[in-house]
Amino acid sequence: ERVPMVAGNWKMNFDHREATAFVQKLCWNLKNRKFRYDKCEVALFPSFTSLRSLQVLVDSDRLKIHYGAQTVSVTSQGAFTGDVSADMLAALGCHYVIVGHSERRKYHPEDDANIVDQVRAVLADDMDPILCVGESFEERRQGIELDFAVGQVHDVTRDLSDEEAARLIVAYEPVWAIGTGMVATPQSAQDAAHAIRESIRQRFGDKVANTMRVLYGGSVTSKNAVELIGEPDVDGFLIGGAALDVDELTTICMQT
Ligand code: 13P
Repeated sequence: ERVPMVAGNWKMNFDHREATAFVQKLCWNLKNRKFRYDKCEVALFPSFTSLRSLQVLVDSDRLKIHYGAQTVSVTSQGAFTGDVSADMLAALGCHYVIVGHSERRKYHPEDDANIVDQVRAVLADDMDPILCVGESFEERRQGIELDFAVGQVHDVTRDLSDEEAARLIVAYEPVWAIGTGMVATPQSAQDAAHAIRESIRQRFGDKVANTMRVLYGGSVTSKNAVELIGEPDVDGFLIGGAALDVDELTTICMQT
């Protein structure tokens, strides 16, 4: 019942011309391979600077992919040099916004309180947040990775209403797996996705838990995607490096 999702997080790669060319090629590939968009949602997360170009392309060619931003300001307007508001992203046709990515948590002052406010800003503009959580190597070494990831989800979702929680997507991205080539085993991705879903069930009930998508992220490639998507609680992927190669991303979409 949950439609899986392949989400490409381009991070700080591709200018707007490269982004446009990539999307044209991806959609061409998927069309040629008779990709069923109703069976798997495809979403891309370019830099802010590419969003307008993607909007024009997607609208004019009626492409069936979705797109969104990699972060958002917690405020709606004002003297915040360099920030981009949720209103602005919604006006660009964004369906989703990634919040709390580990790189944002590391290089910018994004803590749980800030991430909660981002989630609220995204929801207020009728976009859906993709909340990133996941332990670092240290928590995994201590064997507390599940509690850690569940705790992050809990801290951010605690005060949401059922309706708000129902629109959330969670991406489990263990920090040690991001960009390292060290992918989580299917079993540990499943264990984390399951633990996250059960914690949502406790707080928000069966309906929200059963419909909420939990993605896995961290060194996903066409070599490991099939096994990972075979796990019952893994509903797709948030992909970094492999989403920069159009043929690789095409293959992963076909596999999901
Ligand atoms: P990689 O796929 O490059 O490991 O990155 C994962 C990620 O951080 C996606 O948000």
